[in-house]
Amino acid sequence: AKYTIVDQDTCIACGACSGVAPDIYDHTDDGISYVTIDQNEGMVEVPAELHDDVEDAYEGCPSDSIKISDEPFHGNALKYS
Ligand code: SF4
Repeated sequence: AKYTIVDQDTCIACGACSGVAPDIYDHTDDGISYVTIDQNEGMVEVPAELHDDVEDAYEGCPSDSIKISDEPFHGNALKYS
């Protein structure tokens, strides 16, 4: 996965993703997660050394809100759903 984005409409603010991939995900004051490297636009390539972290976050998200793709999301988390 080269690109990632959080579907903030389904994120339940559990905090898991920022725990396993803190260089990619953070959360706002209300706990909703976002991708730090591009303000959750899914447009900046995830650095290769962080791919495993992103995969772990993807696998661990309880609401399937983390999206990953080989192509950029252009701000639309459901682009490839
Ligand atoms: Fe939201 Fe999923 Fe991250 Fe939990 S793991 S904060 S539900 S995106």
